[in-house]
Amino acid sequence: MAGRNFLFVPGPTNVPDRVQRSMMVSMEDHRSPKFPELTHACLTGLKKVFKTTTGTPIMFPASGTGCWEAALSNCLSPGDKILASRFGQFSHLWIDMATRLGFEVETIDCEWGEGIPLERYLQALEADKGHKIKAVLATHNETATGVTSDIAGVRRALDAAKHPALLFVDAVSSLGSIDFRMDEWGVDVCVTGSQKGLMLPAGLGIVCVSEKGLEMRAQAKSPRCYFDFGDMVKSNSTGYFPYTPPLPLMYGLRESLAMLEEEGLENVFRRHHHLASGVRAAVQRGWKLDLCARAPKWYSDTVSAILVPEGINGATVIEIAYKRYNLSLGAGLSKVAGKLFRIGHLGDLNEVMLLGAIAGAEMAMLDAGVQIAPGSGVAAAQQYWRGEDLTRKATVRHDTVRLVAAGA
Ligand SMILES: *Cc1c(COP(=O)(O)O)cnc(C)c1O
Repeated sequence: MAGRNFLFVPGPTNVPDRVQRSMMVSMEDHRSPKFPELTHACLTGLKKVFKTTTGTPIMFPASGTGCWEAALSNCLSPGDKILASRFGQFSHLWIDMATRLGFEVETIDCEWGEGIPLERYLQALEADKGHKIKAVLATHNETATGVTSDIAGVRRALDAAKHPALLFVDAVSSLGSIDFRMDEWGVDVCVTGSQKGLMLPAGLGIVCVSEKGLEMRAQAKSPRCYFDFGDMVKSNSTGYFPYTPPLPLMYGLRESLAMLEEEGLENVFRRHHHLASGVRAAVQRGWKLDLCARAPKWYSDTVSAILVPEGINGATVIEIAYKRYNLSLGAGLSKVAGKLFRIGHLGDLNEVMLLGAIAGAEMAMLDAGVQIAPGSGVAAAQQYWRGEDLTRKATVRHDTVRLVAAGA
């Protein structure tokens, strides 16, 4: 098919040309005297993205799923109790993994479309007088339903219950796109991957571990080897790895971290919110459809899950979008299969790219028989972005004037 494939799944995301070029490297000796420069650049840059000064970032040749396992096996012992909530396929899979690895998971089931139930977490923690719960799992952004949860609120629940459990957060589809604060929120292990907000191919699993997390690792008895934090931290301190690291991905990471820094992390979050708001305008004001996320406090700035009307199969919309229009949309997973499709709006994106996705989704929905007004989503998003942009342009002009005045 001519033209580009429009990639609007919530991961992998578009890799910027600049990052792609940075990965076109000859292989080199990862034990050379020069190699530590690259390791240190990646780890230093990652700390800023995690917003940590005391945490330790670790890179594994893996994906986000591998890092779930790293978090569990490094900090817990067989049979340990975990508190978790399930409200989408990713929060479900982490619970499933913990169960299969032999941990005892106290699961709070919620409606898919809701986020972490803070009061129920608080109740469960307060009821656990003997501190049997050793870790609390929190999926920051549930990618299957487009729901963002309040991690600061989970920390408040732990503190209110004076509970010492570790806080493990899945930030695979939020880190680098939605504000995340490792230190301020007292997160002990944050898990992410390279192929979402970090704008890289899949293949790097990244965790950030608190000092307390590393201390717990020393006592935790779960078997681990490849994913051992201790081996990594020891080698990384000199700039090396216990085994061969994925070099091109590290070059790519150094470049994508530089891009995030150049734009400014807070501006990156603002851009994601701005783009997501335009998509939500298209869905709600334009198409008059509902999001899977049940309340505005849960709306995700990285992915929107759009419910298709009764009698329409969301999978048909996705298939038409791909086959007829070369547009990749995200599928409904597990419990919500067929009920929705998703538009990923994270990473290297701007308004016009998203208008392409909205227009394509609109055509596919019309072809599948969804009763929407042609052009309505595109018009609503345009209107939203143009309105917002008038204020933004004014700011840009103001900055330019100031720069000129300063003689820059
Ligand atoms: C994508 C994703 C994962 C899985 O990550 P992989 O890199 O595919 O292993 C886990 N959690 C969330 C929230 C995700 O979006």
